[in-house]
Amino acid sequence: MYKDALRAAWAEINITNLDFNIKQIKEKVGSGVKITGVVKADAYGHGSVRVATVLRANGIESFAVATLSEAVRLRKAGFLLEEIMVLSPIPEPYIDTIIEHRLSPVVCDYKNAEAISKAAAAAGIIIKGYIAVDTGMGRIGYSDDVTSVEDVKMIAGLSNFKINGLFSHFATADAADKTYATVQEQRYMSFYKQLLKEGIDIPLRTLGNSAAVMEINSAYYDMVRPGVILYGLYPSDEVDRSQLALRPAMSIKANIIHLKKVPAGNSISYGRKFTTQRDSLIATIPVGYADGLPRPYSAKGKVIVNGVYAPIAGTICMDMCMIDVTHVPYVRLGDEVTIMGKDGIYEITADDIARETGTINYEVVCGFGQRLPKVYVY
Ligand SMILES: *Cc1c(COP(=O)(O)O)cnc(C)c1O
Repeated sequence: MYKDALRAAWAEINITNLDFNIKQIKEKVGSGVKITGVVKADAYGHGSVRVATVLRANGIESFAVATLSEAVRLRKAGFLLEEIMVLSPIPEPYIDTIIEHRLSPVVCDYKNAEAISKAAAAAGIIIKGYIAVDTGMGRIGYSDDVTSVEDVKMIAGLSNFKINGLFSHFATADAADKTYATVQEQRYMSFYKQLLKEGIDIPLRTLGNSAAVMEINSAYYDMVRPGVILYGLYPSDEVDRSQLALRPAMSIKANIIHLKKVPAGNSISYGRKFTTQRDSLIATIPVGYADGLPRPYSAKGKVIVNGVYAPIAGTICMDMCMIDVTHVPYVRLGDEVTIMGKDGIYEITADDIARETGTINYEVVCGFGQRLPKVYVY
């Protein structure tokens, strides 16, 4: 019943589902396309080390993270030989970490690549990185013009920085309308061909994210970078779900830590937004907005207790929230509450919570990954 030793609330990560999703993705892209598993933000809250272990067991030898500390954590966990891509440019003062841990940076500036090459030379190693080209995301990368080609040519001449691949990122691959994604693909290929024409060897091309894995086969190229689908979530409501079967890997659960009778007419929680309309049974669970349960969920949110839905009662606090369990059969102190996930015939998904709180499933799982202990199940 109490699944974590220190806290009566936890994120349950189902390794079987994670493994299932990875296998579905592998089958979808085929054996000729490499996969880098995007495990940034602690694997979207699922625990990067465990997720990397499951990826590795499925033959995936490349991981992508957002920050240096995320990369170092994987190296320290024993992933010493795998490629670790760092998906954002690394300012010069931080380059030593790339060298020390042999990371694969994305670069979009000659000076940056030169500094990496120099530091690599001093350490007697070669760093393999990616050239980022901005094909329409407007975030990082070279603009796809002639001066950029000249710059990349100079990078190709560096002694200890080797270009491993050409990288870009979609802005709207998850939209039903693929017009803009197609424009990005065209810009990407055109830049690639310009580089080829200048004699710049690009061993690998990588453009596709989860949505592209599902719906843009032409953008697989040599390597895809799925993130959210690894975790069993769809990138948006507009993608065709029949393209890929997925099983959510994360559930959020808690035990009732306090249960009390509250007479009609009493208010519950900060701001007195909820008043009992009848003699009620109110339970407290130790999950709050600091655990990723969004505060705007207070008004419409619900959980599952003993096989039935129970509404959140009043404002979600930082570390706890209250639920109205007046109608719940046989409710007792310690009972397990499902905040996200399945219990019997009912299910609350990350998409449900996202919809009620004006965000996306990505943010919901990242939020739950912040502070809750993780319990891995099979
Ligand atoms: C986060 C990210 C991904 C993965 O995106 P999903 O939509 O989760 O598949 C891929 N590439 C880059 C550059 C990213 O930042």
